[in-house]
Amino acid sequence: MIAPPAKDALIIAVDGPAASGKGTIAQALAVLYRLPSLDTGLLYRAVGVLTQRRTGALEPADAEWVARSLNPGALGDPNLRTREAGELASRVAAIPKVRSALLEFQRAFAVQPGGAVLDGRDIGTVIAPDARAKLFVTARPEIRAERRWRQLGAQGERVSIETVLEDIRVRDQRDSGRSAAPLVRAEDAVLLDTSEMSIDEAVDAARRIVETARLSSDSQPRG
Ligand code: C5P
Repeated sequence: MIAPPAKDALIIAVDGPAASGKGTIAQALAVLYRLPSLDTGLLYRAVGVLTQRRTGALEPADAEWVARSLNPGALGDPNLRTREAGELASRVAAIPKVRSALLEFQRAFAVQPGGAVLDGRDIGTVIAPDARAKLFVTARPEIRAERRWRQLGAQGERVSIETVLEDIRVRDQRDSGRSAAPLVRAEDAVLLDTSEMSIDEAVDAARRIVETARLSSDSQPRG
């Protein structure tokens, strides 16, 4: 059982589809507000990659076992950033027992004193429904594909932009269509479409959303 967040903790939930810019925004907000940050996609990537590596498949019971015994030290592995890891992640992320095995770690991270920034798909809806600021970051699929294609190219992965766009469409559909914690915008999350924004513009817009949320929560009676 995890204690609720302290009243003045600044928990920032950043959700959105693949390559929407949410990771970049979450990291920038963490630096700005001096908060610890967690890219929760890495948890699912690690479970997918380790399960595949150890068993050659993605059986739900094996993936659940890997999720339960996951060492957060594994999250720094650069192999988790590959295209294949993203695909494995979205497959294990649809397994409810994998999601519940990762729940407590994420909730405990969110309720640290002072607060935290978490980015993923279900932060505002499941992990930290009481977050003080919630953003839902999105961008058109073609724009997201181009960003992801550049990122993969910089990592040395050669793949066509059409293939990346197809990957993104498949992932969007799987993430939004699954029954366990599907990708949906929390009712109280502010939509941020970064399609026409530079990184600086997107970060600035995100900062303004957080400031507005802070001001409005400060003016509400706490009890
Ligand atoms: O954000 P990233 O692309 O690293 O996430 C990889 C996959 O992990 C996503 O496609 C999604 O299926 C899953 N995921 C999730 N819930 C989260 C974070 C990621 O289901 N909170």
